[in-house]
Amino acid sequence: MLVIQGILPAITVYLTRTLVNQLLVAVGSGVSWQSIQVILLPVTLMAIAILMTEVLQGASEWVRTAQSDLVQDYISGLVHQQSVRIDYSCYESSDYNDRLEQAREGATTRPLALLENAGSLVQNMITLVAMAAILLPYGHWLPVLLLISALPAFYVALRLNIRQYQWSQRTTIDRRRLHYYDSLLTNSWVAAELRLFNFGAFFQTAYQRLRQRLRHETLTLLRDQTLSRLMAGAIALIIAAGTMTWMGRQVLLGLVTLGDLALFYQAFNKGQLIIKSLLGNLGQIYKNSLFISNLFEFLELNPEITDPPHPLAIPAPLSQSIAFRQVTFQYPGSQDPTLENFNLTIPAGKIVAIVGDNGAGKSTLIKLLCRFYDPQFGGIELDGIDLRSFSVADLRSMITVLFQNPIPYYVTAAESLALGDLSTTPRPAEIERAARDAGIHDKITRLPQGYDSLLGKWFPGGSDLSGGEWQRLALARAFLRRAQLIILDEPTSAMDPWAEFDWLERFRTLANGRTAIVITHRFTLAMRADVIHVMRAGKIVESGNHDELLAQDGLYAQSWKTQMQTSSVAPQQPIAKFT
Ligand code: ADP
Repeated sequence: MLVIQGILPAITVYLTRTLVNQLLVAVGSGVSWQSIQVILLPVTLMAIAILMTEVLQGASEWVRTAQSDLVQDYISGLVHQQSVRIDYSCYESSDYNDRLEQAREGATTRPLALLENAGSLVQNMITLVAMAAILLPYGHWLPVLLLISALPAFYVALRLNIRQYQWSQRTTIDRRRLHYYDSLLTNSWVAAELRLFNFGAFFQTAYQRLRQRLRHETLTLLRDQTLSRLMAGAIALIIAAGTMTWMGRQVLLGLVTLGDLALFYQAFNKGQLIIKSLLGNLGQIYKNSLFISNLFEFLELNPEITDPPHPLAIPAPLSQSIAFRQVTFQYPGSQDPTLENFNLTIPAGKIVAIVGDNGAGKSTLIKLLCRFYDPQFGGIELDGIDLRSFSVADLRSMITVLFQNPIPYYVTAAESLALGDLSTTPRPAEIERAARDAGIHDKITRLPQGYDSLLGKWFPGGSDLSGGEWQRLALARAFLRRAQLIILDEPTSAMDPWAEFDWLERFRTLANGRTAIVITHRFTLAMRADVIHVMRAGKIVESGNHDELLAQDGLYAQSWKTQMQTSSVAPQQPIAKFT
């Protein structure tokens, strides 16, 4: 289609000459079959050429739309696949977030633009060659002049494209910040605080101020672009006027016919336009490939947490322990190590609590255990085998983590539970049992469509749950997953002590015989553990069970006493936190 579309303009131009020349023959010979016959053929051919141009335009529009959707879906697929494949640590890095933003910006539109530009480049080149061939008989210098007349426009397009790309790279963080402000102002998770603290105007102003700067910069770019284009256009126009004057002189001298003049005008005019768009195509291709290079850079990022060449099988069941041995770990880009020569042994089948103040390094332990990061020195062992000897997927499938802030998945209740283990399709009876065990079954049955009710208020007809109820859903997922190692990261923070008490009993059922690590501020949780480790500034400073630690009269005991003095709640169900 591109080839035919490329040749058609030249055919039209050529037919114009024939038509004008035939018209000149027929002029003044009266309306007769003979005079009509003279122009009938070129008119018919011209009509066919115009018709074909229209049909091909429609057809190529259709092809382009189909191609556009296919390319967009394909590239989005690649970006999504890569976003899931990449290391967790990427999401904690600003640099990665920049790259993701740059890749996503270009992901859907740029490949397509590149494809289209390449297409029209081919088409324009064909038209140009045909036009040059038409012009050649009038002077060898004409095609060269045609080219020269378009060079300023090319230079302008190229320079502006580069400037635009550089601007876009430079302002990536600004645009990310805009998204952030926008999400603060429009998303449900901030809506309550935003109203209470009345900080809407604060972020609105920040958004507008940033937009104002970006708008100013864009408009400056656009102004320069328009001015340079005007100048380039003026140069092309002067050259065109010169050649037309020369051609007019040839007509006056009787060296060429009027048909030739019509052909020449069209060919030179179209030729100029084509060269301009051809060079524009080249500029666009260059610009789009710069943007696409961001996408490819992103797609080429390789996870550093990988499987060993010959992964070992995970010990099932875990018979000895999980052990941190001389672990030293420093977050990428941070100044000091979070853990240094850290040692901790968690006996298999036991419930171990780790208590400590904020920033002690408790969550870091979880991240290392799940292999979201690898330590720089030392290692973590399962029954004496280093974590790095197992496949990452196998390792993660043996772990359930109940995070502090459960993610509210806006799917049906049954689907939300099934997410716990997608390797098998849990039967409705299994789902229901897990929900019962986690104490959320009654709540789900009270929802409008029971297990088929949509959760969350994001989509129409959804029902919202309380913080504690989302926690219970997460617990039910943990029941379905049947992982060997259960990690709790402040999982009851959203619950009152009574709900927590009930939840803990259920957790004991879940943990039965499995290894559990409980990370908490709360003594209500910690005191029930078989072993309690007190962590401070990346070190374990005290260990023992509740009674032993009280007897030691150390940090744990002091915090406990402080809490006993300040809490009016019975010691069996204290709510105070580790201080
Ligand atoms: P805890 O869970 O005990 O509150 P964390 O394990 O989250 O503590 O954090 C321990 C230390 O590591 C803190 O000083 C924290 O600032 C730092 N830290 C946590 N996450 C990161 C990160 N992604 N990058 C750099 N430093 C981090």
